[in-house]
Amino acid sequence: MKPDDHIQYIKGVGPRRAQLFGKLGVYTIEDACWLLPRCYEDRSQVKLISQLEPGVIATVVGEIKQARVLTTRRRRRIFELTVADGSGAMTAKWFRFNTRYMSSLFKKGERIILSGTVETDPYGFFGGLQMLHPDYETLSRDEDELVHTGRIVPVYPTTEGFHQKALRSVMKRIVDEYSSKIADILPPEITHQYNLPPIDQAIQQVHFPDNSAGLELLEQGISPAHRRLVFEEFFLLELGLANRRRQLTQDRAGIAFKSTGELAHRLIKLLPFSLTTAQERVLNQIRQDMARPQPMNRLLQGDVGSGKTVVALFAMLGVVEAGYQAAIMAPTEILAEQHYLNLHPLLDELGVNTLLLKGDIKNQHKKTAYERIASGDVQLVIGTHAIIQHKVNFQRLGLAVIDEQHRFGVMQRANLIRKGYHPDVLVMTATPIPRTLALTVYGDLTMSVIDELPPGRQPVETRLYYDRHRSKVYSFINKQIKIGGQVYIVYPLVEESEKLNLKAATDMAAHLQWDIFPHLKIGLIHGRLNSQEKEQIMRDFKAQRLHILVATTVIEVGIDVPGASVMVIEHAERFGLAQLHQLRGRVGRGSEKSYCILLVHFPITEEAKLRLKAIVNTQDGFMIAEEDLKIRGPGEFLGTRQSGLPDLKVANIIRDASLLEAAREEAFALIKKDPTLSLPQHQPLKEALLRKWKHKLELVQIG
Ligand code: ADP
Ligand code: MG
Repeated sequence: MKPDDHIQYIKGVGPRRAQLFGKLGVYTIEDACWLLPRCYEDRSQVKLISQLEPGVIATVVGEIKQARVLTTRRRRRIFELTVADGSGAMTAKWFRFNTRYMSSLFKKGERIILSGTVETDPYGFFGGLQMLHPDYETLSRDEDELVHTGRIVPVYPTTEGFHQKALRSVMKRIVDEYSSKIADILPPEITHQYNLPPIDQAIQQVHFPDNSAGLELLEQGISPAHRRLVFEEFFLLELGLANRRRQLTQDRAGIAFKSTGELAHRLIKLLPFSLTTAQERVLNQIRQDMARPQPMNRLLQGDVGSGKTVVALFAMLGVVEAGYQAAIMAPTEILAEQHYLNLHPLLDELGVNTLLLKGDIKNQHKKTAYERIASGDVQLVIGTHAIIQHKVNFQRLGLAVIDEQHRFGVMQRANLIRKGYHPDVLVMTATPIPRTLALTVYGDLTMSVIDELPPGRQPVETRLYYDRHRSKVYSFINKQIKIGGQVYIVYPLVEESEKLNLKAATDMAAHLQWDIFPHLKIGLIHGRLNSQEKEQIMRDFKAQRLHILVATTVIEVGIDVPGASVMVIEHAERFGLAQLHQLRGRVGRGSEKSYCILLVHFPITEEAKLRLKAIVNTQDGFMIAEEDLKIRGPGEFLGTRQSGLPDLKVANIIRDASLLEAAREEAFALIKKDPTLSLPQHQPLKEALLRKWKHKLELVQIG
């Protein structure tokens, strides 16, 4: 049999266990080799029976003195072994057993090794000791064939109906027979440079380590064997990404934009501020990238409020000037509307035709909008998902900007890109992604980072209040409004019940208006309003006709009202870290000192405590993202489904960050040397790559 054969045909597996293996994500023999132990037990140290004490987990070797079935007074049947090792004797007992099997297995006079928790034997004399249901191994066989005891023993993640011992026995058979048949796909230069053991050795050691292997390293998943497997997993992932990037760039003819810079020049004069150094720097990166004949695929990261929109505007103007169209797609209507409100006065002034495209515009307007886009009359389209409807056709889309990328899936990105012929792509995100994660998730994009906020911004003071101190919060709000501030009060979206949540926000707005702040103007905004209503309310708030805006989380991303100086977050314990950071980012945009107030209700989970602590302690988006990643783990942080990447089975991007960086470097270097992996020595690698990415290949092709 070959490693990619189905596991069912391994001796001792069969259809039923094959199904159980399936639950563990194991289908082939090779998959099984990658099913790593959850932890290890050190049963390599054999103790003398006379040294044992109740309560410890121990391994002993002895001779079977007696094997028998007892019946207790309550008519319970027990299988009992008496074992002696010269220093003393003890018993081992089983309550569930098959008499015939046990009697044939354990013969008087045979040597046996037992591992288990030592306890006092209630039936024994003089404080005798016993082990209940110990793991055992009879030593009639060759002694270095030990599987379950007398060595460092692997403990596998298992599933109902699959006993640890049965699983371990199968794994031993597979590792013994097949580890040497697994292809060693890493180039030897690389294994040599990073000091990685050969694949067969790594598989053997990770499952059934030598007794000399450090238990500590094994447990943490950082033994040389683990590192070898982790590296391979990362390496294949990064090769896939390197390949995707190559296809998106080198292989394709994109547009080399030549702009005179005239529009940009005029825009600079219209803006009430000058760009920060960081904005200038990323804009230059973007411009150089756009001037190249290959399509741009760039991720623009910048903390909330760092000024990404204006950077995108400059990029889009360059495209318009070169005679192409540009589009910017935002995840919510409110945000699209806000972009439109902010950009169209500038665009009008510059003589650039623009249009707002959203889901709910009237049909006849939609038709004219589609026509104007198709004819090229509209040069810059601002919109929501409505832009990627199939009826929308661009005359010549040159640049697609995707705002708040984390809200969109890979497919949506692909759909927008399809609207043009290899357009340049700029995706923007304020969810700062820790570098290691960015390498895996956005590994096919080049990255630009705005690491500086516009001048004059003051840090937002973050305070935590328990619900019982609500009145203090109200008087604080009052005080702030007296000195000219504006306030957001945000309610969390309770997933199970949007209605309840809406009711909470609506009731609260009424309560605040009638009972608490009768002298103030209070607005309410939520997802159920139509866009005219939303637009009107945002306009009122922006024009300071409202003092307080009560909102559901619709305002989470992107909203920009510089006069707002207080953000109150109700039920802050329910929000994720990224969301809290986004919400806090809505204030502190003007020159006034701003506050973020976290109103917390009991009960608070341990995880929520960690989140609240992180948000109070730091305002640096990247540090918050690192914390978030640590608290939630990579799987949750960014669903792999959304990212369109193969799952990581053995690697952990936090623990193995440095290996990830190394693997990435090597993978990209290799693709540069041998872009299509056609050199003979890279054939096993190519095959592994195709296997690993098989379902993702279409994405690999379309980006
Ligand atoms: P984000 O990066 O979160 O999308 P925005 O693009 O919404 O941030 O910008 C936040 C605010 O900062 C806007 O009001 C914008 O006009 C302003 N802004 C952007 N760049 C600068 C700058 N260089 N100097 C001062 N204000 C700026
Ligand atoms: Mg933004």
